Amino acid sequence: MPHVLVLVDHDGERVHKSTYELLAAARRLGDPAAVVAGTPGTAARLKESLARHGATCVYAVESDEADEFLATPLVDALELAAGVASPMAVLVSATTDGKEVAGRLAARLDAGLLIDAVDLDSSGAVTQIVFGGSWTVRSEVTHGLPVIAVRPGAFEAEEHPVEAEDRKLAPPPVDQAASARVIERRAVLAGGRPALTEATVVVSGGRGVAGADGFTLVEELADVLRGAVGASRAAVDAGYYPHQYQVGQTGKTVSPQLYIALGISGAIQHLAGMQTSKTIVAVNKDPEAPVLALADYGVVGDLFEVAPQLTRELAARR
Ligand code: FAD
Repeated sequence: MPHVLVLVDHDGERVHKSTYELLAAARRLGDPAAVVAGTPGTAARLKESLARHGATCVYAVESDEADEFLATPLVDALELAAGVASPMAVLVSATTDGKEVAGRLAARLDAGLLIDAVDLDSSGAVTQIVFGGSWTVRSEVTHGLPVIAVRPGAFEAEEHPVEAEDRKLAPPPVDQAASARVIERRAVLAGGRPALTEATVVVSGGRGVAGADGFTLVEELADVLRGAVGASRAAVDAGYYPHQYQVGQTGKTVSPQLYIALGISGAIQHLAGMQTSKTIVAVNKDPEAPVLALADYGVVGDLFEVAPQLTRELAARR
């Protein structure tokens, strides 16, 4: 069966869940082959978990400078692997970085690019969310190799143990003049909560939370559900919560099993980042708020009354 290349998202020690989702998506098209770009030894550390999730081949594209540049080493790695594997498609996560990699790879290979895919079938047809979430379309690449950026959370990660073959590929030196160099790294303080884009449950607060103090309610509900905290842009812009937690068109895209929106109106730009969540619960005091039209369960009420009750009830049932 022809290979489908999957770009591995990792932190050097651990494969991110979004990659397991890509491997599950890749199986719909062909034989998943994982491409690991990193410093020497990275692919060997990640191979077992990649094989457990269905990667029949692990391409190790390693160099000492792999972590020193943004995006370019990843584009180089995929270009190299595509030259060797002649794949039928390339899948990357539709994160901010992933979309950059996908776009640059497609330009280099004169390939077809599909962004924000939420479904794909064996014929190669892809369902995409476009125009800031206002349309869902089915698309097919008609020219060259399909390069597809798949939204995190759109597919279920599944274990599918196989034997993985190792392939080492020597990357070219990074073109420094055309690349952004990383000059410093700082750890994001996430507390004990899961990462927003990997969480099974996300509880988000909006302007209705009315201040940074109000976000304690959001955090308490998230913690009882072992979820992540998100925020609308209005909440972030007002300084209620840090920017890295913004959900939406210009923030993170999430697709958890459960998304709870507290005091969020449901502007199209917010919905663009969470509308593929499996179950959506909204608490809003305005019965006309657009988010209630999208929600599976809507509570018309004051979040300062509803959220603490919900937290207490859930804590009692744990
Ligand atoms: P509001 O729209 O002000 O809604 C607050 C809601 O809280 C209201 O529905 C109100 O009824 C309710 N409420 C108030 N008090 C309570 C209470 N006590 N109990 C219950 N409910 C209460 N927005 C994003 O979120 N993410 C993005 O990525 C994003 N990108 C954007 C990109 C562009 C180019 C533009 C133009 C806008 C973008 N926006 C984004 C902004 C977006 O248009 C909205 O302004 C924003 O989402 C509104 O946030 P909100 O729902 O928290 O605030």
